[in-house]
Parts: sequence; structure tokens; C-alpha cells
Amino acid sequence: MALTDRVIYHIDCNAFYASVEELFHPELKRVPMAVCGDPEARRGIILAKNELAKGFGVKTAETIWQAKRKCPELVLRPARHRTYREYCERVNAIYEQYTSQVQRFGIDESYLDVTGSLHLFGGDPVALAHETRKRVTRETGLTVSVGVSWCKIFAKLASDLKKPDAVSVISRENYREVAWSLPAACLLFVGRNTEAELKRWRISTIGQLAAASPELLRERFGKLGDQLHAYANGLDDSPVLEIGEEEDVHSVGNGITFSRDLISYEDIHTSVTALSDSVASRMRRYGLKGTTVQVTIKDTKLKVITRQKPLTKPTYLAADLSRAAMELVEASWKIGSPIRMLTITALKLIPEELAAEQLSLFEEDASKREKRERLEKAVDGIREKFGRGSVLPGGVLGNDLGIDEKH
Ligand SMILES: [Mg+2]
Repeated sequence: MALTDRVIYHIDCNAFYASVEELFHPELKRVPMAVCGDPEARRGIILAKNELAKGFGVKTAETIWQAKRKCPELVLRPARHRTYREYCERVNAIYEQYTSQVQRFGIDESYLDVTGSLHLFGGDPVALAHETRKRVTRETGLTVSVGVSWCKIFAKLASDLKKPDAVSVISRENYREVAWSLPAACLLFVGRNTEAELKRWRISTIGQLAAASPELLRERFGKLGDQLHAYANGLDDSPVLEIGEEEDVHSVGNGITFSRDLISYEDIHTSVTALSDSVASRMRRYGLKGTTVQVTIKDTKLKVITRQKPLTKPTYLAADLSRAAMELVEASWKIGSPIRMLTITALKLIPEELAAEQLSLFEEDASKREKRERLEKAVDGIREKFGRGSVLPGGVLGNDLGIDEKH
């Protein structure tokens, strides 16, 4: 690594929930086992699985019913969130002895920046990574995979290279060889739809993404395109936050200046529906759910108002966003006053796996929501194949507001 480079770790607890269960019941190591919301409820979902269950193709976030079909002898354990949180605290307490920059990423992953403290622990980034890895196992019984690099994005990539119980390095010397040969889908923020779209442009590896024209990527993916190009080249100077520092607020938003002003309730409803639809489908592409919605309205005198409200549950469903957004508009805007521009933004995003974990606490709702999520994802699939305009939300078709398939 260059002298001025940072030393960043991404540490991932291997099969976290399942491994914690195996600590308490070692016999579970010998059978395919999964942790789920409620094993009695068929509608419960798989939150984690051990290696043997993985061998049967059992996947996180699928229903128990789907998992059992692939692996009838699957042993199910109810999730014990309080215990997992205790282990999360214990593991992070170890990390925090090596640096004050420890940023959690979900319950079982953390970024560490050891640049400033490395000299206190011998000065060798890889040796310290191994020390940390061994210490976690010695003190908690869990295994971790550590990725070492000069930025967060490549450190995360590196931690996936070898598991369980391993240290992998992506350095200035080897990144072309190691990172660039990996599928683009390995990169954070490349979801299944983005992956498919990239393939259509003959981009299937991170190296091809790094070499692709930034203009082309921007044209097809907007801001995400710029981000993907930078990430593929290891250009990521986002800091590892200090312990207790708030996570950056990430957001997904979309706004349109309409071809004529919005006047009626129907005008507003049509626009909110279309914007929510596109914001939600991008969130699904990134695998992120929003917990807050924001509406920005610009009137004909270019006066701007912005209003926010929390969503009742983390979501990437268009209907949830548009309902909350309409409530905001109705509460803060005199319907009939012309609107020039409207923007809808989902804020405080969290990874969908994390949201699934929270949702599983409300079993009754979970199955209905899963159905709606599957439905909207099916729409994503059709659009991938036939273009965005192939499925338009009800009421948006044939509008005279300048909303077309691009939005
Ligand atoms: Mg993990």
C-alpha cells in the first residue's frame, strides 16, 4: 500500500445467527439448520443458515416453506435477537480495543480504520488482522473473515474472498488481479437488476466496470453509475466513523419538473404515484428499505417547501411511499395551488436483511408484505425484460404531465 494510504478492515462474522446457535447447541453443527422468525408459522422467513443448510440451497429471506421444500430435514431455531445483540456488542468491544474508528454495518459486520493506531500493535496490517481474527474466536467462539484494503469498498470486497475464519488483502499491487476479476455483482450496491443491466452492456466483471465509459454508466444509471465506476476503481474516500457517530443519512429520491403545473388532486396523485414507483424500484435495486419519506414541492414562484414523516415500517414498496407522500402533501399544501416541481425521497435507508429482521417481529404482517414485495419485484423483472414503460402504475398511463417511462 502507498505510504499515504489508510488501513481499513471490513470484518464479517461468519453465518452469525447460526454460529451463535451452534455455540449453545454444538450438535446443530452436524445437521442442516436455519434461524427464523417463528418456526411454528409457515409464513416465517429464514434469517440465517448454517453451512450444511447452505449446501441444500437454503437462502436468507426466503420463506420457511420454500426452504423446507429444498431441505425437508431442515432444523429450525427461533431467532434470539437479544442474544445476537449481546454477541454483536462483545465482538465490537474487541474491535474497539484496536481503534476508535469502528463503524457497524448491520449486526454482524464492522468497518475499522486502524491507520492511526497500527503502530501501537506492531505496524503490520495483515498481522494485526490475524490477531483480531484469532482473538474474536478465542474470546467469543465465533469466526470472522477480515478484508484488508485502503478503502471501505475494497475492504468489504476482500472480506468475502475467503470464509470462514480468514484474512484477505486487496492492495494497490494486487487489486487489478484480485478485485477486477470478480463478477460486478460482488460490488456493494450492484443488485440483481443492475447486474443484468450491466451484462447487457457486456460488463460482467469489476474490471470491465472500471474500464467502462463513465458517461455511458451515468446515462444508464444516473448517480449510481458514477458511484459504481469510482468503486470499481477503488476510489472511495468515505471515512470509517468514530464509535457512536451517527451513520450518514443515505437517500434515494426522484423529482420531475412537469410539462404543465399540477393543479388538481388527480394531477398530484398521478405524479406521486409515478415518482414513488421509480424511487421504490431503485431502492429494490440497491436492496435498501427506507424508514422516512420526504416530499419537496416547488411552486410557480419557485418557493420550495420540504416535509418529512417516518414510515410505519421500513419499506421499498411503491404503495407505502405514495400513501405517506400523499398524506404529507395533503397536510402541507393547499390543493389547487399550482405545483411546478415535485420530489419524493426515501431517507434513512437500511439494508433489506436488517429490515427483514425487524419485520419478523410482526409475523402477522410479514407474509402479506412479502407477497406485495414479490409482486413489485416481479414487475421489476418484467421491466428489465421489456423496458420501464411495459408496466406503468394505474393512473399514470396516458397522463399529460410529461411523465413517461423514463421516470
Ligand atoms: Mg456475516
